[in-house]
Amino acid sequence: MPDRTAVRPAEPQVDLKASVAAAVEAARSEILDLSHRIHANPEPAFEEHQAATWVAEVLRDHGYHVEHPAGSLATAIRATRRGERGEGPRIGILAEYDALPGLGHGCGHNTMAASGVGAAIALAAVAGELPGEIVFLGTPAEERGSGKQIMIDDGLFDGIDAALLYHPCDRNHVESHPLASEDADIVFTGLQAHAASDPWKGRNALDAMILLFSSVGLWRQQLRPTSRVHGIIKEGGTAANIIPDRATAWFMLRSDDQAYYEEMKARFTAMCEGAALATGTTVEVTYSGGATTMRNNQVLAERFRANMAAYGIDDMGDDPFAGSTDMANVSWVCPTIHPELAICDEGVPGHSILFRDAAATPRADETTLLAATLVAQTAVELFTDPALVEAAWAEFRAG
Ligand SMILES: [Zn+2]
Repeated sequence: MPDRTAVRPAEPQVDLKASVAAAVEAARSEILDLSHRIHANPEPAFEEHQAATWVAEVLRDHGYHVEHPAGSLATAIRATRRGERGEGPRIGILAEYDALPGLGHGCGHNTMAASGVGAAIALAAVAGELPGEIVFLGTPAEERGSGKQIMIDDGLFDGIDAALLYHPCDRNHVESHPLASEDADIVFTGLQAHAASDPWKGRNALDAMILLFSSVGLWRQQLRPTSRVHGIIKEGGTAANIIPDRATAWFMLRSDDQAYYEEMKARFTAMCEGAALATGTTVEVTYSGGATTMRNNQVLAERFRANMAAYGIDDMGDDPFAGSTDMANVSWVCPTIHPELAICDEGVPGHSILFRDAAATPRADETTLLAATLVAQTAVELFTDPALVEAAWAEFRAG
């Protein structure tokens, strides 16, 4: 390990951390304006065209070299800015900006987009003092489709030494253990017939779907409490007097245990096939892929926690009721954390109208600015302390 004191004296880092905090404050209205614009214009996964364009614009204004689109996703962004102190780590600042269909920003990703941009603005302001490269990654489709896995496959995470972000919550906590999660698209295909004059000529795709929901409902009794399976019917026929020849559903399967998840997936596929067999229909099951559990990097978590503490914020401990995130996929590629900060009182459920409305309040605004500062300060520590980056990678490699 390199000698830290030989690499840098301690004092300048303290100054840089104060500088990024001041830079966030100076960009206050720009950051919050972005948060509110995105909140007022919710766009679902893969369709975040306006949000991505706004994010890219601000980054360009702050001297970033912006690729948008980046890789195969039209709404992905990679924006880079080299520090002026020579070679060093490449620190990733991530931001999501997708909303939930029919609900809007019920997960508060507008605050995450704005805080990620805020951190990037702050780091650009001290780029003259940093080695290495700031890499902002705008990551679409967190709510559905694992956009980050697609960006990983596109090579956009190659060479990144650490991945940082902030997610809004009703509590303050640094670590979380999200469930491995995957989307499953189900299509049952049958045969149309008149529902009164000759129904015996039909094969009922909706019946197959109802059997599948019944099977899943009974299965839940035997599932481990840390697993989830839930879905909606998207198409269930077109008229009551036609035997439906097509029924489609969107399911999600989740577990905190990778091996158990694979068992669940095999069982779910068998249930789909069983429902088809029982109704004389055929079934197609398409999985989104990329379900993984999360590895919280302790070296990064400790730094973020210390930066929080400097603002008087305690880590309330791991959230026992985690959902899922494609940040888990990133955690298998490089050292990663997924800290969450409160934008509302404890107990407000995520993915709800209450949480959506909380994401545009003055309290959420203050959290957004603080998150930008904490992410930027954690990045500053990584940029200026090679031993820290090395320790994060050593932990990563040790598994
Ligand atoms: Zn979210």
